Amino acid sequence: MTLKMSEHKKIVVSGIQPSGKLHLGNLMGALENWVSLQDKYNCYFFIADLHALTTGYDNIKKLREDIVDVAIDLLSVGLDPKKCVIFKQSDIPEHSELHLLFSMITPLPWLERVPTYKSKIEELKEKDLGTYGFLGYPVLQAADILIYKADFVPVGEDQLPHVELTREIARRFNNFYGEVMPAPKELMTEFPVLPGLDGRKMSKSYGNTIAISDPPETIKKKVNLMITDPARIKREDKGHPDVCAVFAYHKIFNKPEIKKIAAECESAARGCVECKKEFLNHLLAYLEPIQKKRAELLKDPQRVAEALNSGMAKARKIAGATLNEAKKAMGLI
Ligand code: SF4
Repeated sequence: MTLKMSEHKKIVVSGIQPSGKLHLGNLMGALENWVSLQDKYNCYFFIADLHALTTGYDNIKKLREDIVDVAIDLLSVGLDPKKCVIFKQSDIPEHSELHLLFSMITPLPWLERVPTYKSKIEELKEKDLGTYGFLGYPVLQAADILIYKADFVPVGEDQLPHVELTREIARRFNNFYGEVMPAPKELMTEFPVLPGLDGRKMSKSYGNTIAISDPPETIKKKVNLMITDPARIKREDKGHPDVCAVFAYHKIFNKPEIKKIAAECESAARGCVECKKEFLNHLLAYLEPIQKKRAELLKDPQRVAEALNSGMAKARKIAGATLNEAKKAMGLI
């Protein structure tokens, strides 16, 4: 499989962790964006298995399966190995080596003040995250980005401090050893934050997700369980669509009808059962081609392996060149 990377296109780098089945939040929040980026930029998209270990180091039973699952999801949603480089992070040892070199120059307080450091420890209280790897997560992220000399990193608001830290590490490296690392910019994207079944943000840690790979029957059951307007107890009660998770989905999957749905909800002309059914039909129609491709790929693991192998070869070439430059600049070669 050959891939032609255009010399003139800017470079974009982004990764996703294989920590369970990818869900609608991942699809609408990142993957849809990646699919559109692959036509405009030279994109490096990776399965961040090393990052998954920073929080999941004590539970690796499903890691291999999750990696394959994510690879299948990436290809199913429309990422094309002829247009972008898709690979597994740990297949490119240059990420880890550059991470080590960066760890020599990154001051500890820079890492301790990253907002997600404290919030994640709080969120995952049951885990022991007092590890070197977890604190160093943003250094590895800087290596992931700078090893490809990325121009842009697609991020939402909450990831901005990580890109800023990457720039700071790049500047510090350049100050010590000469101009090797270009500072990347954020590619701000307005990601819709999708509510989960319980109305909170859709997240694996809340167990409130609809997976891209869920069979239609499972999706139907999950949609039926979705929390709507809690103040709407009887069918004749008037609804408040803005507090309803189902309405948030109509906004994405059923845009042309949105005004009508809101008016019917507010006047109690529509009930939640029919409203959910309508959303379910739109969702299943949207997921159908993705799930069809998924089923094909499940029967053809060779195709998935080929995509990752060709991505690995391409990524290693670029990563190897950058690492060489970095090592030369640091007096190691
Ligand atoms: S009618 Fe629809 S939008 Fe209104 S509360 Fe019920 S599910 Fe939500």
